[in-house]
Amino acid sequence: MGNRNIKTSKTDIADYWFSIVDESDLSVDAAEAYERCWRCGYEKSLEKCHIIPDSLGGEDKPSNLVLLCKRCHLENPNIADPDIMWDWIRAYKTPFYDTFWVEQGMKEYEFIYRKSLEEEIKERNIFDVIKFNKIVKEQIRKTTYHFGHPYLNSATIAGVFRISLKKYEEDN
Ligand SMILES: [Zn+2]
Repeated sequence: MGNRNIKTSKTDIADYWFSIVDESDLSVDAAEAYERCWRCGYEKSLEKCHIIPDSLGGEDKPSNLVLLCKRCHLENPNIADPDIMWDWIRAYKTPFYDTFWVEQGMKEYEFIYRKSLEEEIKERNIFDVIKFNKIVKEQIRKTTYHFGHPYLNSATIAGVFRISLKKYEEDN
């Protein structure tokens, strides 16, 4: 992904952008722009990502680079219009750290089952939220144990919710 050939430093990239953009539109605060991914806000090792790709003539300078985690780097738009990258980063803004991928899992759940997790919880009379959360955590542990992934994609998180709803019902 060309990362190793980029000469511009991460500090230069963060300093450049956080003097221009409004951090309240983003998943990350300026103070943590070196440590947390600008799209998902998770504390991960960050990659220097071209806004306009190398292959489309994008230059190695702060204004053409952003800092993203590996996972977001794989999903970012590769288009020769610099506004698209920022539209995409801003659209995913989440107000809390470390919730982004769970939210994506909830959206995925709703996409697959045509019902929000919130509706499911109401319809299935899940009153004991602490118990439900416990089941979710247990299922996440099992999933990571089986597949050894450092993080779960949204389809897996959606599946974990589905299984947890069933487990809760079985136990009651
Ligand atoms: Zn990310």
